[in-house]
Amino acid sequence: MKQSQEIRTRFAPSPTGYLHVGGARTALFNYLFARARGGKFIIRVEDTDQERSDPQSEQMILESLAWLGIRADEGPSEGGPFAPYRQSERLDVFAGYTDQLVKAGQAYPCFCSDEELKLKQEQAKKMGLPYVYDGKCRGLSDEEISRRKADGEAFTIRFRVESGEVVVEDVVQGRVKFDARLIGDFIIVKSNGFPSYNFAVVCDDQEMQITHVIRGVGHLSNTPRQVLIQDALGLERPVYAHISEIVGTDKKKLSKRRGATSILFFRDLGYLSEAFVNYMSLLGWYPRDAVEYMSTDELAKKFDLAQCSKSPAMFDFFLTDREGAEDFDPASLDPAELQRRINKKSKLNWLNNRHIRDLPLDDLIERVRPFLSDAADIRELIEKEPDRVRQAIGSVRIYVDTLQDFVAYLREVFKVSVQPESDEARAVLEDESARGVVVEFVSLVADRKPETPDEFAEAMKEAGRRASVKGRALFMPIRVASTGSTQGLELPTLFSILGYAAVEERMRRAL
Ligand code: GLU
Repeated sequence: MKQSQEIRTRFAPSPTGYLHVGGARTALFNYLFARARGGKFIIRVEDTDQERSDPQSEQMILESLAWLGIRADEGPSEGGPFAPYRQSERLDVFAGYTDQLVKAGQAYPCFCSDEELKLKQEQAKKMGLPYVYDGKCRGLSDEEISRRKADGEAFTIRFRVESGEVVVEDVVQGRVKFDARLIGDFIIVKSNGFPSYNFAVVCDDQEMQITHVIRGVGHLSNTPRQVLIQDALGLERPVYAHISEIVGTDKKKLSKRRGATSILFFRDLGYLSEAFVNYMSLLGWYPRDAVEYMSTDELAKKFDLAQCSKSPAMFDFFLTDREGAEDFDPASLDPAELQRRINKKSKLNWLNNRHIRDLPLDDLIERVRPFLSDAADIRELIEKEPDRVRQAIGSVRIYVDTLQDFVAYLREVFKVSVQPESDEARAVLEDESARGVVVEFVSLVADRKPETPDEFAEAMKEAGRRASVKGRALFMPIRVASTGSTQGLELPTLFSILGYAAVEERMRRAL
């Protein structure tokens, strides 16, 4: 790549399913790298596999990227100087390159039938050998080719691979060598006239002036084919960066059945896109300063391929090392089972909490709102008493891992009934000293009209002094009398949200 050249990266999804964390991380690294270097990020839809591609998948992938805030400078929705950005609309481009290769003798038509090839593949398998095309159609004469084409025989176009070593220089993986004999002449145009992936990718990376190809290490084995085509066409190679594999907590490769679920699933669970992006950025990249909590803007300043590692990165969100996790589809689990499979101590939860804490409060309230669709009581409160809800969201945000968690906390704050919820709670109130504590506390609250958490904490302490109790014997009766429950939010925080009048009223009812 020339020094003066503008950096251009691309994300090239095949629309054959949803976008999962592997694909999204590839998109993110391309996006961040382009932004870090003042370059351009392109989305190109690779839909040349006619049977497996579908428009809904494309839409879902684009929606996922939009949610993540991974915005393209050029792409199927954005347009751009190299439109169209959907490969099925670019067949003429590939045809031009095919002609060039065939004319130069670097590619040739192959009339071998699918059945014949399948048979040979099976034979190789039986003998425990890797399958390589035997070159049957390599030497066909021009006359024979013309005749068989005129007869309407189906044919593919194969790329001619000469024996030797193919060397790929990779920014992350280092220098990787491949034996061309194990590749064999491979198909670049299928019998339906559509290009194969390896061919289309080379043509379009060239046409769209891509300078850096950043993608999952799973594609490393395709790279020798791609560089052979580039060399045959006399093209300059892009810089390759094959990024690490992503594994589950069991250290095995993530798959669609084992945690590689749709990105939108995480949105619906209440993760902020900023937190998810932050989390994905750390899957295979290590910031030089080791500070892991970052905004997307910070990421786009710091990201570099130089700190990408080839060691597998662990997606620690699902507990795939649990029994029965070999085959589970997170999207189809019932909510309780799903919660058991989620690692509450994942880095994603930690980051989500950090991002939730730092979000401007108005923005946070808007993001919480969709999660209240089943909580009409709280939605009503937002309209009727916006300041109280605002204060509540602001206070409880330090405790939550997800936006969904707000529902339970807000329910707890604003619940109407404070009857003891359990035998344990009833037992607390039946204790002899409990009444004394509660009476003292109520009178202090009525007297002092505390407002801040500190003022409430002070009133609790004073009630303890007066009733000569401490610790659990002090706060448990107050907790159960005011909430009906033996656990929950820190009381001073809760009380300051509720306001002294509501606290007094709840406690008097309990008495
Ligand atoms: N369409 C390929 C995929 O979805 C893209 C591979 C590449 O980036 O070259 O895996």
